[in-house]
Amino acid sequence: MDYLCLLLIRSSHEKNQGTKVYIMRAVDLRSDTVTLPSDEMREAMARAELGDDVFGEDPTVNRLERIAAERVGKEAALLVVSGTMGNLASILTHCRRGEEAILGDQSHTFIYEGGGIAALGGIHPHTIPNQPDGTVRLEDIEAAIRPDNVHFPRTKLICLENTHNRCYGAPLKPQYMAAVAELARRHGLSVHLDGARLFNAAVALGVDVRELTRHVDSLTFCLSKGLAAPVGSVICGSKAFIAEVRRTRKVLGGGMRQAGVLAAAGIVALEKMVDRLQEDHANAMRLAEGIARVDGLSINLANVYTDIVYFDVVGATVSADRLIGQLNDRGIRMLSVGPKRIRAVTHYGVTADDVDHTLRALKEAM
Ligand SMILES: *Cc1c(COP(=O)(O)O)cnc(C)c1O
Repeated sequence: MDYLCLLLIRSSHEKNQGTKVYIMRAVDLRSDTVTLPSDEMREAMARAELGDDVFGEDPTVNRLERIAAERVGKEAALLVVSGTMGNLASILTHCRRGEEAILGDQSHTFIYEGGGIAALGGIHPHTIPNQPDGTVRLEDIEAAIRPDNVHFPRTKLICLENTHNRCYGAPLKPQYMAAVAELARRHGLSVHLDGARLFNAAVALGVDVRELTRHVDSLTFCLSKGLAAPVGSVICGSKAFIAEVRRTRKVLGGGMRQAGVLAAAGIVALEKMVDRLQEDHANAMRLAEGIARVDGLSINLANVYTDIVYFDVVGATVSADRLIGQLNDRGIRMLSVGPKRIRAVTHYGVTADDVDHTLRALKEAM
């Protein structure tokens, strides 16, 4: 889908004070969160049958939660407003104050969620290094688990992220998930999966999503990223866990009333938008391969796994911010994530043609 952005420039110094109209193609690659709902989603939202979900009476929310739980092979599910709330409510439910959660040091929960588990839950985050492929080493997890001793916080939880946002959108494989879960079980710990882009992982690996969820105790996934729903994430787990997390969600102010308007889009997201993620991955690779051919840009194609592309500007004179500024002037948006590093994410609404347009703009700007 191409969409246009009109740029109106009033040029006062020109003789006839005319208004110039430039038509510029807009390509927003900052994140897959910028996706807009499909027409089918909007129609489903308008028609959704509604009730009060805090009373458990919104039929559309109940349907979404059933579909989601079934899809990931868990007993129950809960709609929440965001991935951040999903992780927070889940981790608050697993751990009490002073207990410890083991997290990758590049994890979204540790870096980008406002320190919520510590701020609101008194939960001690114990970070261990993420490897470039998004995993944390089993031996590092093992070494981080506290022995039973009054000096130490009690270890309760291991958190994983799949795909891994900061680690190039890398998918964690079923064998790895199983190995972490086995280690957790051996130590009496639970495993929570931040699966904001879980379906990207399943599509990229060509496995049923249950292969990635069967070993974990709880998981969240986002409806609002590549799946293109306007709002919402889903927490999945056992019936008992979801009953508890429902209480936590209410305490956090996350009990919603006629949330079926959102759930309706979420159902379309799950039923219609998963398979097409393949397109986003192909476009990401197309973009990455093009970037590899642009002088002054550097990328490792082995680090392109799903919809997220990280690349660097090389040479002393250009910075990521400057290149992003020049792209903005051409209607193309990306995120600077370091002095030399840029992130671009493909998604619903970005076509192969948009990628080629972006590559032409990158060449011009360099
Ligand atoms: C986006 C994201 C989240 C948070 O989701 P929001 O809906 O933006 O709060 C959590 N984890 C990962 C890995 C993400 O990429």
